[in-house]
Amino acid sequence: MAATTQKFDLILRGGHVVDPAQNRDGLFDVGIRDSKIASVAKGLKGAKKIIDVTGAHVLPGMIDTHAHVYRHITGKFGLEADWCGVGSGVTTLIDQGGPSSITIDGFRKYVVEASASRVVSFISTYLVGGMEGHMYDSLHGPDQINVKATVRAINDNRDIVKGIKTHAEVGGASRWGVEVLKLAKKISRESGLPIYVHLGQMWPTKKRISNEQRQRESDELVRAIAPLLDPGDILAHPFTRHPGGFISGITGEVHPVVRKAIDRGVLVDVGHGSHFDFNIARSAIAQGIVPYTLGADMHGYNVTQPGEGKASALKSANPFFGVAPFSLCIAMTELLMLGMDFTDVVKTVTCNAAIIAGMQNEIGTLKRGRDADVSVIDIKPGSWKLSDNSGNHVISDKIIVPRFTLRMGERFEADSPLLPAPVKAPAKTKAKAA
Ligand SMILES: [Zn+2]
Repeated sequence: MAATTQKFDLILRGGHVVDPAQNRDGLFDVGIRDSKIASVAKGLKGAKKIIDVTGAHVLPGMIDTHAHVYRHITGKFGLEADWCGVGSGVTTLIDQGGPSSITIDGFRKYVVEASASRVVSFISTYLVGGMEGHMYDSLHGPDQINVKATVRAINDNRDIVKGIKTHAEVGGASRWGVEVLKLAKKISRESGLPIYVHLGQMWPTKKRISNEQRQRESDELVRAIAPLLDPGDILAHPFTRHPGGFISGITGEVHPVVRKAIDRGVLVDVGHGSHFDFNIARSAIAQGIVPYTLGADMHGYNVTQPGEGKASALKSANPFFGVAPFSLCIAMTELLMLGMDFTDVVKTVTCNAAIIAGMQNEIGTLKRGRDADVSVIDIKPGSWKLSDNSGNHVISDKIIVPRFTLRMGERFEADSPLLPAPVKAPAKTKAKAA
């Protein structure tokens, strides 16, 4: 048959397709034509090109709900988008709080338009944006917020701004109470977009306080802010090792007010980063907390970039410094290890992630007619060592490794310099069933 008469431009043949939005889970071929998903079925024939993906899992293009990719503009904090995106097996990145109303045009020109990955923004609440990962507290008080300007920037950039990034943590609260969150909510209500709320201490408190006092004030803050959230708003870093996550540092239990918020439709994003603690995650999950989405939260202070030497004193001074190697696929592996079902883990990075950005009619599924954004991953059995930044190590009997992505039908290898090499567990350690 002549190439011009072929039904498809490309067929991914023989992979295990998992597309929760379509209730699809099994061996199927994926046919692509004109950069769109043309068919998902068994035994597809007639393509200019066929890629054999036998043994691999084929997912809707994965969405990282927590990226920091305003590179060069946000100091050392922002990473190259395609290192976190297509190079890491991810087709869509949601940048959390990099650009502001002042710098959103630069984000469009130098990140969104310059990247192979699809990139959108949860815009910063603060005029200055997310410089150096919010290292300087004085840039992030209520005086540094302009509701009107931010709503205007959102209205001018609806195609790339999908939410608002803000913070609720004890250092800020010791200076300004919950005023920042209230202003963020004002921007949110006026624009109709959700807020994504960082939990867990970032800044030192205004006055020195004891650890117990810090835990108590962090608990009080969580109890104060949870009722202020609307359905569709997102609480991030539930499993943080810093004070102020879902679990009270005093009682060891999930705050009842957080449960109530979740029951009302407030969503939970893991926001992995350097915050994630295996023990806290295990406890919260055992208490019934199910993550809705999973953001990797990689940035310049918790990964090692090419050409970077040993961690400098400047780097380790950042409140979000971390050394445990990770990626979105490692974070997915950890959720599996903690007992989440594979399909539920896939939801966190596909259909659920699309919903928090209000993009469920564009991305997050392999439905016919959608842009051909596809992630192809391997689940490798073995005995693999995973680490967190609290110094805990666990052994997983499988690890997720990205193989390649299709972004609107175009192939990108998972060859990011940020992807950590899987770490084999020492021979005598027995693998724990995930
Ligand atoms: Zn972050």
